[in-house]
Amino acid sequence: MSQKLEQYLQSNLEYLKDNGLYNEIDVVEGANGPEITVAGKKLINLSSNNYLGLATDEKLKEAAIEAVKTHGVGAGAVRTINGTLDLHVELEKTLAEFKGTEAAVAFQSGFNCNMAAIQAVMNKEDAILSDELNHASIIDGCRLSKAKIIRVNHSDMDDLRAKAKEAVESGLYKKVMYITDGVFSMDGDVAKLPEIVEIAKEFDLITYVDDAHGSGVMGKGAGTVKHFGLEKEIDLQMGTLSKAIGVVGGYVAGSQDLIDYLKVAARPFLFSTSLTPGDTKAITEAVKTLMASTELHDKLWENGDYLKAGLKDLGFEIGNSETPITPCIIGDEKKAQEFSKRLKEEGVYAKSIVFPTVPKGTGRVRNMPTAAHTKEMLDNALEIYAKVGREMGIIS
Ligand code: PMP
Repeated sequence: MSQKLEQYLQSNLEYLKDNGLYNEIDVVEGANGPEITVAGKKLINLSSNNYLGLATDEKLKEAAIEAVKTHGVGAGAVRTINGTLDLHVELEKTLAEFKGTEAAVAFQSGFNCNMAAIQAVMNKEDAILSDELNHASIIDGCRLSKAKIIRVNHSDMDDLRAKAKEAVESGLYKKVMYITDGVFSMDGDVAKLPEIVEIAKEFDLITYVDDAHGSGVMGKGAGTVKHFGLEKEIDLQMGTLSKAIGVVGGYVAGSQDLIDYLKVAARPFLFSTSLTPGDTKAITEAVKTLMASTELHDKLWENGDYLKAGLKDLGFEIGNSETPITPCIIGDEKKAQEFSKRLKEEGVYAKSIVFPTVPKGTGRVRNMPTAAHTKEMLDNALEIYAKVGREMGIIS
């Protein structure tokens, strides 16, 4: 190995380990469900994004197995070279119907969507107004586009209006976009899409919503944009197929022209092999399940409300989440990490999230209840929360 590389790696690893920033990744033995096994110990899992429990759903598993039998395990090549599988076409039609748009295109991951779509639509002659709490993949996608990036205070509509006006009236940019998460995953708050659309109309902004945490959760499952009835107003709806949908991949939904253009201009579409047959069929099955019934969605919200009420009654600070995402805000970073560690020792798997992912002094343990949790699991989790919370002086 190059000596320079070795020194670089070692000094970075040492720094991270010395400062408590090195993330030791647990090995999950078996499926990732509402309960998981880590180092032989069964834990109530409040850390996954598998909101609807679909990651282990029997119908999805069967759909994947069937597609592997008929289509094999790989797609063969990028779609522009080797053609699009009929399974991809079926998925994209289903996604467009689900999202209420003319068309949709699937990518290999949600992260890839943001690498693909932002850069395809925006370039160095443009400006992007971006909520300061947007996901890392949005930030990277914006950087890749070479457009001027203008940070907007979190969900601050006065700041958005002022910065949109300034950007448009400066005459410096050919196009201006506003990009935001639909649901912010650290606090569970929802983007103010109706006001955003009004401001966008006033200044002819392109609107882009990353609904990774809203799909399957908001709008009776169809997402945050549909929740507000704004399918015709938001230009790009992007989301992941790995969280509530339970598989892997991402999508962009919008007008036929947008999707046609992404298929010739988005680099991860042009240069990276498409979703596997098994994943594609399982995703289609998941989306069809959500379109046919709101049962899983309703159960998710019931469980979310139950856990929130339980934690609040115990005296925990749970913030102002508008979705099932339930942060338990501890404040001090080290205490949040210690709290998460003690919860795990007692049987609850809920990860601590600290600066720089959230602002300094708002260290927290974040809970992600799902439709697959039983009342008994949630009651057990609450008992453990009470015990560890009292022991650490977080609640009285
Ligand atoms: N956008 C947001 C808001 C996300 O939370 C995530 C996943 N953490 C992604 C994009 C990336 O999605 P994926 O995991 O499918 O790459």
